[in-house]
Amino acid sequence: MGQDRQQTLGRLSSGRRDELRNRLIGEIPRWYRPWLHLAIPSLIGLGVVALSASLLSAVRPLELVTVPLTFLLLNAGEWRIHRDMLHRRTPPLAVLYDRHTPQHHMIFVTDDMAIRATREFYLVLIPAYGILAAGIGALPIPMALWLGFGLRNPALMFMAMTMAYVVGYEWLHLSYHAPSSSFVGRRKIIQRLRRHHAIHHAPELMQKWNFNVTIPLWDWLRGTIYRGTI
Ligand SMILES: [Zn+2]
Ligand SMILES: [Zn+2]
Repeated sequence: MGQDRQQTLGRLSSGRRDELRNRLIGEIPRWYRPWLHLAIPSLIGLGVVALSASLLSAVRPLELVTVPLTFLLLNAGEWRIHRDMLHRRTPPLAVLYDRHTPQHHMIFVTDDMAIRATREFYLVLIPAYGILAAGIGALPIPMALWLGFGLRNPALMFMAMTMAYVVGYEWLHLSYHAPSSSFVGRRKIIQRLRRHHAIHHAPELMQKWNFNVTIPLWDWLRGTIYRGTI
């Protein structure tokens, strides 16, 4: 990989990376509580999952097809949002790019993926309001299913799946950035999925490869799983 290309795509020396890391950590508000940043959106998300599940009634076998279909839609959505909004500055949602490409990707690179303190959750997790934004953003689909077509159970399943997916995304992404020697980091499944995400964290590959952070199904279907050596 030539020097010019590395500079264009922003690979920083480890000294510059430490400087940026220290600056970003210094900018985290004093009141920030990392475990609450993980717990509160997770509880909201799981609360909506539980509420939606409790409202299901007389589920017919055919309605269960909503679950894999919703998963596929969410997996494709994750791929597209990651490629088109987190790696391309797109107003009015430029904040997504700003936190992802010049911050998250500049701090964590393929061979140095681990957070060094829980305070760095701030540099990995989506903002706490993200779970609400995802829920509200998804709402037109279950509303159309329920109010437009009378598909109450599929609407509830869609909502539950969406919230579970966002919570799963957060947990998995944080797990990949946990130290590889930690309990979570040592799990076989996390090791495999972390490898997929760590390749995406190579600055020269991040704009083209491995956009799925959860299960790389849509990467596989779109042929964007990186198979080269790095
Ligand atoms: Zn990451
Ligand atoms: Zn990325």
